[in-house]
Amino acid sequence: MQKNRRGRVPAILGGEPAFAALLPITQPTVPPAHRVLRRLAAVLGSGMLTNAGQVRELEALAQRLLQAPQAVAVNSCTSGLILVLRALKLTGEVIIPAFTFHATAHAALWNNLRPVFVDCDPHSYNLDPQAVARAVTSRTSAVLAVHIFGAPADISGLQRVCRRHRLKLIFDAAHGFGARYRGRALGGFGDAAVFSMSPTKLATGGEAGIVTTRDEALAQDVRVLRNYGDSGNNDCAVSGLCARLSEANAALAIESLRQLEPNVRRRQKLALRYRARLGKLPGLAFQVIANRDRSCFKDFSILIDPRKFGLNRDELAAALLAENITVRRYFHPPVHRQEAFRGAINFGKNLEHTDRVSSNILSLPLSSHTPAAHIDRISAALRAIHCAAADVRREL
Ligand SMILES: *Cc1c(COP(=O)(O)O)cnc(C)c1O
Repeated sequence: MQKNRRGRVPAILGGEPAFAALLPITQPTVPPAHRVLRRLAAVLGSGMLTNAGQVRELEALAQRLLQAPQAVAVNSCTSGLILVLRALKLTGEVIIPAFTFHATAHAALWNNLRPVFVDCDPHSYNLDPQAVARAVTSRTSAVLAVHIFGAPADISGLQRVCRRHRLKLIFDAAHGFGARYRGRALGGFGDAAVFSMSPTKLATGGEAGIVTTRDEALAQDVRVLRNYGDSGNNDCAVSGLCARLSEANAALAIESLRQLEPNVRRRQKLALRYRARLGKLPGLAFQVIANRDRSCFKDFSILIDPRKFGLNRDELAAALLAENITVRRYFHPPVHRQEAFRGAINFGKNLEHTDRVSSNILSLPLSSHTPAAHIDRISAALRAIHCAAADVRREL
């Protein structure tokens, strides 16, 4: 059996696993319980359980942190996206990245909009504005872009295309809390942006979403739509959802947001540590983030070149699982290969960068509170697996 320099034998070949118990891919960094409980006691005492004082406080805090003129809290990012597309009265086709989480595309289908899936940039994994420009037709009404893994999309490139073709520009900013585009938080760009506060995101309310926009009328429409479409007189002019945020979720979301900045800084340190530890291994690449931008590292992923690394993504995933390290194929399969979206249009027929990234990408464990020693241990396990690649492949 092949050993590496330090003699570490991968667990899949009979060595000691890197972790004694299964290490999760991520865990929410929960705020101190006493702070949340104090808020919950106030909520219970007030008798107002949804869409009241905590929600308004959350909206004010999100507005400030996201540098957004308007912020509207909803019960999830998905419902926020559905309501924003509805409020904008879009029709026809909406351009969506093929490399994204499926919720982005669901929002289009729930509005009877046809997704047009466009390829990603091979280095940033974000929507490629030039590919977007080529995909525009007379039926296109909007571009729904994503800030993948918390790395800002090419906002100015997308704005240019949308301005030229008079398209609405909406951001699925589910990963975007704590990220910055050229120094600015992501709440003020495009016609609207929608942020997620589900448990795998940097700041969480258990479940929650935040819609931001510069357009006061649009914000007001979303407020009505989140309340069934009822503006308060039981006489609906539009059809909405019950997408209100409960006060209990808002209370948790506020306390979670109060620790956003230190959590982002911590993640950046941990991501740099991963890059330093893994950067010299052959066949591994990292998401490219523009120098002027800040990623919040919602995820930390590696892109594997199977020939150079010696194992493909799925082989490496199996070997890491044997080390008790949870990994995720994120996003795989890409949306254009999912049954739910078979009615969509795949622009350019072969979405080659999306397919290549989706087949070779692997998210490694990262939480805002992950100890640096875990990053080192995960990296050492990866190195040992690479050094014994030929034996590992035979074992699988
Ligand atoms: C998590 C996520 C969503 C959905 O957010 P919810 O708050 O769970 O509805 C949408 N888009 C992307 C890219 C996501 O990662």
